[in-house]
Amino acid sequence: MPRPLLHPFTRPVEERFVPIVRGEGAVVWDDQGREYVDGMGSLWYCQVGHGRAEIADAVAAQMRTLEAFHTFAPYTNEPAERLAAEVVARSPLPDGRAFLCSSGSEAVDTALKLARLVHGLRGAPERRLIVAREHSYHGVTYGGTSAQGLAPNRAGWGELVPGFVHVPHRDLEALEALFVSRGDEIAAVISEPVQGAGGVFPPPEGYLTRLRRLCDEHGALLIADEVICGFGRLGHWFGSQRFEVRPDLVTFAKGVSSGYQPLGGVLLSRAICDLLEADDQFLLRHGFTFSGHPCACAAGLANLAILEREGLLGRADVIGEHLGGGLRALQDEGRAREVRGVGAIWGVALHEGDRAAAVRDRMLDRGVIARPLPGDVLAWCPPLVIEEAQIDRCLEALRKSL
Ligand code: PLP
Repeated sequence: MPRPLLHPFTRPVEERFVPIVRGEGAVVWDDQGREYVDGMGSLWYCQVGHGRAEIADAVAAQMRTLEAFHTFAPYTNEPAERLAAEVVARSPLPDGRAFLCSSGSEAVDTALKLARLVHGLRGAPERRLIVAREHSYHGVTYGGTSAQGLAPNRAGWGELVPGFVHVPHRDLEALEALFVSRGDEIAAVISEPVQGAGGVFPPPEGYLTRLRRLCDEHGALLIADEVICGFGRLGHWFGSQRFEVRPDLVTFAKGVSSGYQPLGGVLLSRAICDLLEADDQFLLRHGFTFSGHPCACAAGLANLAILEREGLLGRADVIGEHLGGGLRALQDEGRAREVRGVGAIWGVALHEGDRAAAVRDRMLDRGVIARPLPGDVLAWCPPLVIEEAQIDRCLEALRKSL
């Protein structure tokens, strides 16, 4: 009998599972007491490391006071108000506002809907087109599925949302040509600062700046999908800050709570807020039951406090130097095809014939967690508290598993 739990992004007949029961820092343990270095921050999200009693206490205290109450008007709660303020203040849109939700996919759908709404409010409802890059990952709701640039993930679900086009991911000329031919139809371009789940691709030099300029020249919005890049992963609160780009909408999730509670959101620029605020009869007909959930926001606040107090943003490049340097050394030895990365997110493309999933399994047997991605890439996105000796264990396990 198959087990009752149908796992996400998994073959339904899969039988090998590793029950993870406990975590501390960059290490987790399975139910047999075996230890693993978590080279992936679980699924790209555990910035402050596992086992933080401080966050557990903050959530428990909130739960004892008020477990939940929704934030549709006329209700609000202090953790949600404070979290929004803290995130906005650290963001590339410090005079904007934050909408809250519970996941990256909800954040992406929210941003896509807002982009089209904004053009409608500006009197240009014909601007509907959403441009996305190949190799992008934007989640799994119908909007995110329509947007994401991984074709196998888009197949088999029937008709997706109309009005989405994909461009080759590192080709500025293709993007410029699209703007020339359809610039007045484009509502928004959605782009990760560093493409993560699609294979770990930092942007080509100047790509994001040029993208910003193209959007400005043609009246389109720029959505930065920072679900992976946000909250210290690239050494800044947001990846856009590292690349000195100011988006109109920013999606976030994952690292905002380091996964201690499901939490996500969208940042809106002041110009977009002005538009939404212009007509006092206008009602934002969008929101989730758990938008601004006080326990999730309490986890987010405690997480931000740790990131700040322990200076964890500064760890990203230190990790990058050590991990990226070690991966490049493996490449120099001829053991890998290509190494890509920036800050604390890295990918190593394996030689033809080396299956990333098989290498992942061999590394698991050696007590190290990495993640196979499309194109036989192994991804690394460790907690920002990972120690150098633990990175060395990751590199050694990889060397032996190739
Ligand atoms: N956007 C990006 C860039 C992501 O990496 C992800 C998840 O990996 C998502 C959106 C979807 O987030 P979630 O899985 O929380 O729905």
